Amino acid sequence: MSSRETGETAVPPAVEVTGLHKRFGDLEVLKGVSLSAGNGDVVAIIGGSGSGKSTMLRCINMLELPSGGSISIQGEEIEMKPDGRGGLQPANSAQLRRIRTRLAMVFQSFNLWQHMTVLGNVIEAPVQVMGVPRDEAIARAEKLLERVGLSDKRDVYPAFLSGGQQQRAAIARALAVEPEVMLFDEPTSALDPELVGEVLAVIADLAREGRTMLLVTHEMKFAREVANHVVFLADGVIEEEGSPDIIYNAPRSERLRKFLATVQ
Ligand code: ADP
Ligand code: MG
Repeated sequence: MSSRETGETAVPPAVEVTGLHKRFGDLEVLKGVSLSAGNGDVVAIIGGSGSGKSTMLRCINMLELPSGGSISIQGEEIEMKPDGRGGLQPANSAQLRRIRTRLAMVFQSFNLWQHMTVLGNVIEAPVQVMGVPRDEAIARAEKLLERVGLSDKRDVYPAFLSGGQQQRAAIARALAVEPEVMLFDEPTSALDPELVGEVLAVIADLAREGRTMLLVTHEMKFAREVANHVVFLADGVIEEEGSPDIIYNAPRSERLRKFLATVQ
């Protein structure tokens, strides 16, 4: 059971975002977003195109530098300092490297390394970044590939895989760093409809296992099934958040009602 359900507060949240701002030039994309995910929480992030969902996930793992606010992982705040141009920059690169290995992100567009086989993709970070011996990394990768149903594609290059297979390989690659938190950015949006289910099944399996996940998705039915908390982002702010039941059955915000009507 997640901390959100038990009300347990002694353990710091897996992810805590406080007052997050992000500007791209004159465009203020995130206007003070605060959210938290306890260990074992699956937080679904929904919202219209351009509402800042990807930017928020990318700020959490510092693929984008926030303009303001703070991000803590398991109670450890990522150290940032002013960059002299109105934004922030990392203040402690060793800490950032260490924290980054505790997060893994799965992208809409798979982002597999095309010049490496499936196995090569999965063992790359463990071997090159984490210093896991190659044999051990391979043995672990084989287990992960079995888990996502890709044992027979071990030595195949991404170009020869379907979108669903590529995304499952990307999930195996994300799992290979043994992340404490997984960030999914619309993991099924680039897939043909008949391939969506196989990827959602893998994500549902991870949710059942109690993995902490932030999941940006347009799959409303799926979000409702796997998430224990739903955040509706609109125009760079959290317009409404709550349990899936409340969000889907009793939305208070008119914008959320309109959004749900367009996606369901
Ligand atoms: P979502 O994922 O909800 O569709 P995004 O976070 O991708 O939204 O984008 C939010 C807004 O930020 C959009 O207006 C988008 O054009 C803008 N944006 C995103 N990334 C950049 C960037 N690197 N440079 C400038 N504008 C960006
Ligand atoms: Mg996006």
